[in-house]
Amino acid sequence: MKKIGILTSGGDAPGMNACVRASVRAALANHLEIFGIRWGYAGLIRGDMIPLDRRAVANIIQQGGTILGTARSEEFRTKEGRARAINMLQDTGIEGLILIGGDGSFRGGTLLSQECGVSVVGIPGTIDNDCYGTDYTIGFDTAINTALEAIDRIRDTATAHDRLFFVEVMGRHTGFIALESGIAGGAEEFLIPEIPMSIDELSGRLQENFKEGKRSAIVVVAEAEQPGESFHIAQEVKDKTGFDSRVCILGNIQRGGAPTARDRVLASRLGATAVQALIDGKGGYMIGEVNREITYTPLKDTWEKKKAGHYLKIRGFSRGNQGRFFAHRLSFRPG
Ligand code: ADP
Repeated sequence: MKKIGILTSGGDAPGMNACVRASVRAALANHLEIFGIRWGYAGLIRGDMIPLDRRAVANIIQQGGTILGTARSEEFRTKEGRARAINMLQDTGIEGLILIGGDGSFRGGTLLSQECGVSVVGIPGTIDNDCYGTDYTIGFDTAINTALEAIDRIRDTATAHDRLFFVEVMGRHTGFIALESGIAGGAEEFLIPEIPMSIDELSGRLQENFKEGKRSAIVVVAEAEQPGESFHIAQEVKDKTGFDSRVCILGNIQRGGAPTARDRVLASRLGATAVQALIDGKGGYMIGEVNREITYTPLKDTWEKKKAGHYLKIRGFSRGNQGRFFAHRLSFRPG
């Protein structure tokens, strides 16, 4: 193998740059040429690529976002679109491709590798942490710390005003961000798709808390298809309990910012390992980290299998299924 490419795809996540940097440095150390493909699969189809050297990746380890740009490409979902991408790879002589993205990107990557001879290796980069085959995805640690900082600030004002707050965090059908930031922030309640709770149950639990003398509370809500559902939940809780509340939607601020040390280290480790995997002929895998050990998961398992939320089993986080479920109301999809 002489020439490889690297792209970032899907939602951006802090640590993607650290990962690009590590892959470039590992490639150059192994005398490989490496091309940065800009704007994800959309750029691959257009042949928008630049050669990367050490200078190109200097001073980016601390930057959020991605210097390569990222995009979602409808065209790549079609066989014709992928054929154009394959032509570009063949014209450039790229024999191995590193994809940094989520399970959607890996679906596309699997099809690409089936339809041409290029070796494809995935690296999990998404703030949502919803990739099977790795304990943590690049960007998750930064996102939960950003959410935690917001929860801590809201705690101050919730306490000062004796008030109930709903804090809506990202998660795309999973409660990973909600649960970890909420546990760290001492949240009173969680609304996550994995453990449904009815409005009645939530209202009852809050009322009990307040009866016991609590004067403020924070409910962390995992965002559903559309951000903003928390406003309706807050209104329904008010109708049942009379509790006035405030809603805070954290939204895209959870995506940006300098990656944490943990994300930078994970990104560096996975980025360097991906290059070695290509050199060793281990295409078709996602490189992850489970129990701090590097793992190789077949790309198609990353979306066919569902990541077990092991910490969802923590005592105290299983609830009975009663009444009307948020899961249905918010149309969360399993998986
Ligand atoms: P993520 O990688 O963060 O999960 P998306 O789900 O948006 O993000 O996927 C990123 C890109 O991967 C899409 O814009 C599309 O180009 C490609 N992709 C996703 N799913 C498929 C699929 N089933 N077939 C082909 N390409 C896909």
